[in-house]
Amino acid sequence: MTPQAAYDELLRRAREATLLGSCLELLGWDELTYMPRGGVRNRGEQTALLAGLYHERATDPRLGELLDILECSDLLADRDAATAVNVCELRRTYDRETRLPRALVEEQARVTSTAQQEWEAAREDADYARFCPWLERVLALKREEAAALGGGGDAYDALLEEYEPGATGARLAVLFEALRRELVPLAAAIAGGPRRSELTLLHREYPVERQRFFAQTVAAALGFDFHRGRLDATAHPFFSSIGPGDYRIATRYSPRNFGDAFFGMLHEVGHALYEQGLDPAHHGTPMGEAVSLGVHESQARLWENTVGRSLPFWRHFFPLARSVFHEALHDVTLDAFHAAINHVGPSLIRVSADEVTYNLHILIRFELERALLTGDLPAPDLPGAWNDAYRRHLGVTPGDDAEGCLQDGHWGAGLVGYFPTYTLGNIFAAQLFARAAAELGDLDGALARGEFDGLLGWLRDKVHRHGSRYSAARLIEKATGAPPDHRPLVQALRRKYGELYGL
Ligand code: ZN
Repeated sequence: MTPQAAYDELLRRAREATLLGSCLELLGWDELTYMPRGGVRNRGEQTALLAGLYHERATDPRLGELLDILECSDLLADRDAATAVNVCELRRTYDRETRLPRALVEEQARVTSTAQQEWEAAREDADYARFCPWLERVLALKREEAAALGGGGDAYDALLEEYEPGATGARLAVLFEALRRELVPLAAAIAGGPRRSELTLLHREYPVERQRFFAQTVAAALGFDFHRGRLDATAHPFFSSIGPGDYRIATRYSPRNFGDAFFGMLHEVGHALYEQGLDPAHHGTPMGEAVSLGVHESQARLWENTVGRSLPFWRHFFPLARSVFHEALHDVTLDAFHAAINHVGPSLIRVSADEVTYNLHILIRFELERALLTGDLPAPDLPGAWNDAYRRHLGVTPGDDAEGCLQDGHWGAGLVGYFPTYTLGNIFAAQLFARAAAELGDLDGALARGEFDGLLGWLRDKVHRHGSRYSAARLIEKATGAPPDHRPLVQALRRKYGELYGL
């Protein structure tokens, strides 16, 4: 068999696996949006079957044979060429998948399907005892997974590899400590500073239908392609990439909370813009896929925060907001509105946390999930440990577990090692935006004129179109001229909030 024939067969198989994966994605989207609760058992079986099939394909020994042929060929001479990238990444996935027994993969799909429903119900009733046994089952399966993958190495690192290839728990711990040392004093300075922002104006009456209209208008202006995507309402905001031409955003609307839905939507639009910017010619292969969750998150946080909470952005959109939400905003100035959407203060809920304290919410989850995984923290003790961490790092205490350890669905879904990618996203976003601003010239002016295509084009060129060509760290270095570094984020936060709060 010639190397070219082996490569063609490898790609055909990779594309089939991607199709199976997209069926799973669609089932997952449906489960979180329209599926009645009674469908949960059947959905669990559907998901388990497809996950098993996916796993069988992904571990077919034939893939190993094809990879062997290719790895000895001169097709891989250029490490950054599409061929080499695809072979190298498919090898990584193949090695990973072959270490996982099919029974474990199916059991994880089955258990997390129910665990997510139990989490939802437990959160509604603030009843941690209901969720705890499911969390224990998920954690036991994740330990099994880590043991199968890691071959005796660090369990948390083995799980991280799935979301952020190359990251380690030890390096993240150093990073979080560095951030904590900067962000805790900044948050304290803001709390003790001379200025307060008036938050209540975001909790006036914002009719849901008009919020939906405003969200769609802004999403389209930023470049979200509604012919290749949709925007729905749901209980928890999320983004789902079904396949080329089908990218779905879900937003949670509430009539007396403008920020929740709007910034949730902007965040998911950022994710969607990344996927809509991947090279369709490479779809179904690593060259056409996002490189890591950290990079994915950077695109979401960049549009949500760096752009979406900036003064230039609202110079453009505030007049429209004021006419759409006339009753709520007719007596509000642009500056008051800008201050309100950038309110900083210790809070209980991650998804509505401000930019300054957000990474402290992630730090807490990072520390707790590492301890849960090793067993140092037994699952029944989670609420106490959670509340204690919130007291220590943020100075607040949840009134119940719904606004405490039950607020996020990640662990019930089996996503352990996922949270740190949010903070990596913030770090990458700050680096990327600073560089884009330097290269594009008057970026603030463009944003204030509602011209977003320059920035989007820059991101397409530097990030999106490369798919998984480079590792996350190398991509950031190539795009910004510097390796991943938390300092640009800290500097940007100091500058912005120093000005806003008169520090
Ligand atoms: Zn996100």
